[in-house]
Amino acid sequence: MRQGLLQLSAMSETPRPLPPLTPATLYLVATPIGNLEDITLRALRTLRECDVIAAEDTRRTGQLLQHFGLSKPLLSYFRFNEARRGEEIIGRLQRGEKVALVTDAGTPGISDPGERVVKAARLAGFRVEPVPGPCALVAALTASGLPTEEFHFAGFLPVKSGQRRRRLEALRATAGTLAFYESPYRIGKLLGELHEIFPGATVVLARELTKKFEEFLRGTPAELLAVVAKRSLKGEFVVLVERGEKTI
Ligand code: SAM
Repeated sequence: MRQGLLQLSAMSETPRPLPPLTPATLYLVATPIGNLEDITLRALRTLRECDVIAAEDTRRTGQLLQHFGLSKPLLSYFRFNEARRGEEIIGRLQRGEKVALVTDAGTPGISDPGERVVKAARLAGFRVEPVPGPCALVAALTASGLPTEEFHFAGFLPVKSGQRRRRLEALRATAGTLAFYESPYRIGKLLGELHEIFPGATVVLARELTKKFEEFLRGTPAELLAVVAKRSLKGEFVVLVERGEKTI
């Protein structure tokens, strides 16, 4: 069965051939956040059939393509050339090209380049299609054991202490589980700040998701501060915070 070319009909569950990619469309293709088995069949088909791939890191995407036996022209699209490359991508859409956008890992547009070109493509009247898949936020939240019904994703906090503090203070007014992306170098700093602002909170550190050393560490900010004082925690982190009743 050529699975990559089939889709299930909602009514009958009878597989039917998928139509080819649509010209003049921007495809947002999610890619694995660690485990290459997490690529979807549709992501592979989109990367195979598009005209060009706009990639945050062409070297990294080149390796991904090579792993899956694919080869495609790559266009670098990252934070510091977003404006210029965005125009180029719109130009390609105007010429009817099928453009796939991928970032280093996960879903493009979540704390990485993507938002700007999606907005530009929409404003110019082009079709934008998500090709959903891995996202560190969703993987961490859903497996954390913390409430998922309502959550507030705050992305990366600013680096400067005063700005971080103000952002965290402002989050007091939000409801639901808080979710952050954070660099491994600032995990201790963030736990210290959470200890000051939400001392009774339950925090989950979701580390190295889908990778060999994946782990979920759970405790109050003080308990987790004690853990990071003993172990140097490396890798990638999503930090989740359930504030409960005990916030000050
Ligand atoms: N767009 C991506 C997504 O959909 O998850 C996120 C991109 S953002 C530049 C990278 C951050 O996501 C990392 O610093 C980390 O906070 C989080 N992240 C990415 N992969 C992860 C993983 N395997 N485990 C834990 N966190 C991860």
